[in-house]
Amino acid sequence: MTANDTEGNPFAGNSNTAIHCSARSAMLNFDDQDGQIWYDGALRPWRDVRLHVLSHGLHYGSCVFEGERVYNGSVFRLREHSQRLLDSANILGFEIPYSLEEIERATRETVAAQGYADAYVRPVAWRGSEMMGVSAQQSFIHLAIAVWEWPSYFSPEARTKGIKLKRAKWRRPDPQCAPVKAKAAGLYMICTLSKHDAETTGFDDALMLDWRGQIAETTGANFFLVKDGEIHTPIPDCFLDGITRRSVMGLARARGYRLHERVIMPDELPGADEIFVTGTAAEVTPVGQIDDLRFQVGPVTRALMEDFEKMVRAPVAAPAV
Ligand code: PMP
Repeated sequence: MTANDTEGNPFAGNSNTAIHCSARSAMLNFDDQDGQIWYDGALRPWRDVRLHVLSHGLHYGSCVFEGERVYNGSVFRLREHSQRLLDSANILGFEIPYSLEEIERATRETVAAQGYADAYVRPVAWRGSEMMGVSAQQSFIHLAIAVWEWPSYFSPEARTKGIKLKRAKWRRPDPQCAPVKAKAAGLYMICTLSKHDAETTGFDDALMLDWRGQIAETTGANFFLVKDGEIHTPIPDCFLDGITRRSVMGLARARGYRLHERVIMPDELPGADEIFVTGTAAEVTPVGQIDDLRFQVGPVTRALMEDFEKMVRAPVAAPAV
């Protein structure tokens, strides 16, 4: 993926960890934008929504989030994303104080207020600052929803040639060691480490194995392999069963491709005809290289990229805000 990674960050430069102060002041910063963010029940001016430095979510990772895309003014799969946000919070042992419908309404309200046709939506929920120990059972649960304009995620070159992945040294953890089904901020710690390592050595993103050594996913997208015209994808038993992944599997079935959810080991990579990844940020993105191995952007990937684009751009009835 490019520097414009929004499972991290769509504004180039913000992902740089060693930012010099003068360079930082010249950057487009996420805390300094025009517009509004929905925060704990109402839209507020973008620059005014702040959390205190003593917030449990910041210190102990009691924080869950979503990444959603707006196409032609509508959020793609809003219901699924909003439900996953509620589920992620429950997995981390807290309840977001808004219903599914309230979250959907707040999301639409924020999208409408920001006024972008194509955008990214970031709902985030976290434990507040009432308690600052490991135990924080009485803490207030906050919810914020931010929407910002989405510049083209990948360069035309990456979409034509495919992105370059580097095998990560970090592995997706055993479900007995982490709440792997939650889209929890804490699980992204090893993603950022892996992605930074990949970028530092000239790659776009990292390919992560799981704790058993099976292929899992990239740092923000699910993995697919094409061999002899059939599609293979790992069983999502220790990483997110992505909403895009499921949508693309539906498109593949509709085209009549045979689809296999199964264990995929890294030694199968040299025999693959095509590789692609899927995610809200990545959409359907071909992979052109994994370490020293090269792959063609083939007909199956191209067909699914086209189908996906058609699906997300299909006109839908405008839902009431
Ligand atoms: N895996 C990880 C680690 C992710 O961050 C994402 C993006 N949310 C995905 C997979 C793909 O999920 P989705 O298609 O629901 O965006």
